[in-house]
Amino acid sequence: MTQVTLRVGRLIDGTGQDPLLDQTIIIENERIRAITPWQDTHHSQSAFIDLSDATLLPGFIDTHLHITADPGNPEDIYNPEQNPVEITLRAVSNAQAALRVGVTTLGDCGAQNHIIFPVRDAINAGQISGPRIIASGAALVPAGGHGADKFGVISSGVDEVRAAVRAQARAGADFIKVMATAGGGEEPGVSHYSLEELIAIRSEADRHNLIVAAHAHGTGGIRDCVAAGIQRIEHCTFYNGERGFDFDAQVAKEIARRDIIVSPTNVIDYRRIQAGGEGTPRGKLNSIWRQLLDHGVHFAASSDAGVKDMFYDDYALIPELMVKELGISEMGVLVACTQTAATALGLQDELGTLEPGKIADLVALNGNPLEDITAMRAICLVMRSGEILHQQGHLDD
Ligand SMILES: [Zn+2]
Repeated sequence: MTQVTLRVGRLIDGTGQDPLLDQTIIIENERIRAITPWQDTHHSQSAFIDLSDATLLPGFIDTHLHITADPGNPEDIYNPEQNPVEITLRAVSNAQAALRVGVTTLGDCGAQNHIIFPVRDAINAGQISGPRIIASGAALVPAGGHGADKFGVISSGVDEVRAAVRAQARAGADFIKVMATAGGGEEPGVSHYSLEELIAIRSEADRHNLIVAAHAHGTGGIRDCVAAGIQRIEHCTFYNGERGFDFDAQVAKEIARRDIIVSPTNVIDYRRIQAGGEGTPRGKLNSIWRQLLDHGVHFAASSDAGVKDMFYDDYALIPELMVKELGISEMGVLVACTQTAATALGLQDELGTLEPGKIADLVALNGNPLEDITAMRAICLVMRSGEILHQQGHLDD
């Protein structure tokens, strides 16, 4: 048994409760054994790390990104000429970049099965260092639909979508990704699947105990996802292309009532627009997401890293823009990055909060993100499953 004791200046547990000051957290093997006030701690022989000037949080979670992609050259991944070994090595490097900025768990929301599952398994087996990967593998999409030529498992009709879910489960998917509508830059108002097909996807996924995450922009597509009981909606922009934005308050109420988690990918075009490129108008997008929040919808932190100009080491942009553009409180944003994101991946019993019994995924920051959210960039230590995988600057021991 290995035991590590950390003294922590400020502990934010991920549930939204007020921070605890001057705490001791004891890690035994890969789990949190105890959290107690420092003054009450019985000092043992175990290894000791002094983080009394730092803020400790649960490891950050990104529910939606694509580690096999290349944000500098996003078409590259989909070039059939490209050597799959190159894509694989790039995926490992991308995952490690995310880890260094505190992302201890990531949800890969669309990739080729034969690349993403072996990368996940190699990290889980400890063969290479990296964040825990929860991967959908290929996404369900009808022929010619969004991403069909990239990482699609082409399927339409109730029987075919059921077969596609079974095939993904057999291939090792951790959840099911479905393209319920076209993409933002395409005709986002167009639904790819009927309500009957979405119901079939959900019910087949249930048989394999898998959550369904649906990419959905257009209002009709979002409405059908909600009616089908899909657990996660990605983007959720109510954007219908030339027909504009069409927010439906009834649908928003239902999303909140059913505890459907939205991964807004709220940073998606930000860097691209900053760089002078094209993107969906941010003011409009933000007003849609603010209306969802007003209806009580829960957001999970999600970057869509891998799309053009959205890089893997820029996770902190999510909380920064959630505060600045969406008006979420700093504490609310920290919950979106931890507890809610863990729930979106179905891992709420193991991850996302700092509590005895949970897996010891931790991030220590120099500074206080409740006062200044950009402190999310000031990483001093990253621990996954009780192992320190990254540290920056001097730590006493
Ligand atoms: Zn995506």
